[in-house]
Amino acid sequence: MRRTEALRSLVRETRLEPGQLIYPLFLCPGEGVRREIGSMPGVFNLSVDEAVKEAEEAAGLGLGGLLLFGLPATKDPEASGAWDDAGIVQTGLRALKATAAAKKLVMIADVCLCEYTDHGHCGIVTETAAGFEVENDASIDLLGRTAASLAKAGADIVAPSDMMDGRVAEIRRALDEDGFEQTPILSYASKFASAFYGPFREAADSAPQFGDRRSYQMDGANVREAMREIELDLGEGADMILMKPAMPYLDVIRAARDRFDVPMGAYQVSGEYSMLKAAFAKGWLEPERAMLESLVGIRRAGADFIVTYFAKDAARAL
Ligand SMILES: [Zn+2]
Repeated sequence: MRRTEALRSLVRETRLEPGQLIYPLFLCPGEGVRREIGSMPGVFNLSVDEAVKEAEEAAGLGLGGLLLFGLPATKDPEASGAWDDAGIVQTGLRALKATAAAKKLVMIADVCLCEYTDHGHCGIVTETAAGFEVENDASIDLLGRTAASLAKAGADIVAPSDMMDGRVAEIRRALDEDGFEQTPILSYASKFASAFYGPFREAADSAPQFGDRRSYQMDGANVREAMREIELDLGEGADMILMKPAMPYLDVIRAARDRFDVPMGAYQVSGEYSMLKAAFAKGWLEPERAMLESLVGIRRAGADFIVTYFAKDAARAL
């Protein structure tokens, strides 16, 4: 049954379609800005006008949606750029929603504080004798405000990526209170502390200035704990879940797929993208085949949709 492409196509178990791919965008202040990220060839920081062009291209390629991150002009300890109605992602959302492309794309807004805090952590930080502590409960209050502000600006889905305890319930409460009962929550329920996020921190300018994120992101060795985190987030009202990273955690994606009957995405993170791009540049891997194989693997593991920097290239190849 493998003799011809027609036969192989007939018995293919896993399909990959452009509509299953979500393209991340990094919005920055200014006009006409299109700044390539050194460690992520082909990925750019974009001013809002340039992001609108990307959205039109993404819609033309039939992609499922966009995932929006922001690089604010200034940062502070309270991450005020995250929950400001005039913030960079809120401004971008209003412009994007005014385009024809918006009708074809799902606009997903990342909800976190690390791009907006001057210290680069995902929550409010207090100094203690032992060093520093991320204040869980003060942080989720700001995450709720951020989510409501993004929904007001036009986000179709809000996606909390911070890994604070109880934030899904707080975001649900904040959304409902502001009249956004219909806005779904896509929770990064089991986000692992990973070396594969390295290039993203350059892209989003969000590297922690001290310490690391291992006190709130998950230990990469734990699959049972990941299931527990997902269960808790679904209990708090998450509508769908996003697994991150993808390739080094395909077994975790499979375990979640077998256990939870909710829509599930996976994020092929910056390091997964960059290492493939580096190998392509060296001529060590065949770009199109390796790219599609990496994406089919994530789908086969059980992800319904994939957030990937390859989204546009993959859609063209498909
Ligand atoms: Zn964060």
